[in-house]
Amino acid sequence: TSFGYKQVREEEKSKLVGNVFSSVASSYDLMNDLMSVSLHKLWKDRLVSKLNPFPGMKHLDVAGGTGDVAFRVLERIKSVSHRAGTLTDTEEDTHIYVCDINPNMLNVGKKRAAERGYNGEHCLSWIQGDAEALSFEDGSMDGYTIAFGIRNVTHIEKALAEAYRVLKRGGRFLCLELSHVDVPVFKEIYDVYSFSVVPTMGELVAGDRQSYQYLVESIRRFPNQEKFAQMIQEAGFQRVEYENLVGGVVAIHSGLKL
Ligand code: SAM
Repeated sequence: TSFGYKQVREEEKSKLVGNVFSSVASSYDLMNDLMSVSLHKLWKDRLVSKLNPFPGMKHLDVAGGTGDVAFRVLERIKSVSHRAGTLTDTEEDTHIYVCDINPNMLNVGKKRAAERGYNGEHCLSWIQGDAEALSFEDGSMDGYTIAFGIRNVTHIEKALAEAYRVLKRGGRFLCLELSHVDVPVFKEIYDVYSFSVVPTMGELVAGDRQSYQYLVESIRRFPNQEKFAQMIQEAGFQRVEYENLVGGVVAIHSGLKL
């Protein structure tokens, strides 16, 4: 039946995603830098500046992997109150939860946190979990971010419904994702880059062509900017908008739970 077929495809996808990130965890940060010529750092900066983090906030970064977004949120909160080093009283209520389905990615993140001297900070938690079934309470978060993660979840609608559920009223949803380029000529160049260069780089640097081929295919299959914005709205969010970066190579979608 078509349902049976769908079921198998979904199981395959979950397994594939699991394998991809287990096998790339150790080379993940390096590959990110290479593939995006370090642009992903600027994109994440932009994401976090849109979040506008504040001392005392409860924030959830889903598919948080090796901690890139969480570290930025924390650093921004510290800089908001102009106090380097230890947290002030309000800041002590700050809590950033990094949730990821893959323990290998989280372990890399924990190690990086220790290297940055964050092991004394009690405001960072690393939690293994699925974006589609979060273990956090309803209305418990001021912010929710997901960077380069939603493309990998099996049911996007479920992840969006969970994002909506865990946010407080007034809470902000932000999603950074590789999206669809719609600029002539640049689109053709980008196609060559993603179909030929990325898998070859994956093979040479990470020794894993298949995972990076999967990455490129998953970008093609992901809904375009407008369609995705509509899905966010359907999940209940308001004031949904998006910003394209580098002609739509990536997009940042946002919404509020009002
Ligand atoms: N957000 C990090 C960043 O921007 O560097 C990591 C992005 S990485 C491309 C995608 C992450 O999504 C991986 O760490 C993977 O384990 C995680 N992931 C995939 N499916 C997930 C799911 N259903 N729930 C939570 N995390 C998931």
